[in-house]
Amino acid sequence: SLKGKTAVITGSNSGIGLGIAQELAKIGVNVVLNSFTDDDADHKLAADIAAEHGVEARYISADMSKGDDCRALIEKAGACDILINNAGIQHVAPIQDFPTDKWDAIIAINMSSAFHTSAAALPMMRKAGWGRVINIASAHGLRASPFKSAYVTAKHGVVGMTKVVALETAKEPITANAICPGYVLTPMVEKQIPSTAKEYNISEDEAIEKVILAKQPSKEFVTVEQLAGIVTFLCSDAAAQITGTSIAADGGWTSQ
Ligand code: NAD
Repeated sequence: SLKGKTAVITGSNSGIGLGIAQELAKIGVNVVLNSFTDDDADHKLAADIAAEHGVEARYISADMSKGDDCRALIEKAGACDILINNAGIQHVAPIQDFPTDKWDAIIAINMSSAFHTSAAALPMMRKAGWGRVINIASAHGLRASPFKSAYVTAKHGVVGMTKVVALETAKEPITANAICPGYVLTPMVEKQIPSTAKEYNISEDEAIEKVILAKQPSKEFVTVEQLAGIVTFLCSDAAAQITGTSIAADGGWTSQ
């Protein structure tokens, strides 16, 4: 049972991270939520989870674009049996126009943060004698698309680092895996629907089917609940020998 274990989920005041936190809380895991803001609404998310599921839930503000903040998040959490590296941002532009500050931010938040949190969390997992590192990569960790240079680079990097963490912990009861989702209807993707419809001069429904889900053969969004289910599976005993791998949940995208 995972009851009483502690999960730290980066970038979890919204979308996939929040959904994973809620699902883990449901099965008795204490959760640490995070984003770079420090608003009442952030802390209320944690209080609501604690009240609903009877677990310990805290919100700790830390900016995942900064290495010291990443490490401080884990130190402040005090325990980290399950580390979910989920914080991420996107920016879309051709390489020649891609702003350097966006490149730096995406590499830092989407990739380097997972290095820093893992460095801080692995000693805690070793001490506790059990651990799970789960990196939320993307189908873009396995395949590329034009105009997403920083995102594709960062997500491929995360898939690579996942394998290194798996090898460095191979003889211990610790596993490291990546989940590679296709498109999930979260605020990150919702933002792209009206702009895509406008750009292609088509309806929002067409923008979803023909553009956004163009590469996703199922023509259905992956759900946050499905991803949370994969996380729960990776934390189970059945997954104890699954390490260093990427689990694609992408409606067939990477089969192409
Ligand atoms: P989202 O925008 O809803 O969530 C991103 C989270 O990261 C938010 O909680 C945000 O506050 C946090 N965040 C952003 N910058 C941060 C920073 N500097 N420090 C700390 N936290 C920060 O998007 P989402 O779709 O839930 O994305 C979560 C993860 O899943 C990302 O890594 C994303 O790349 C990945 N992903 C999403 C999709 C999708 O279709 N939505 C597909 C594949 C992978």
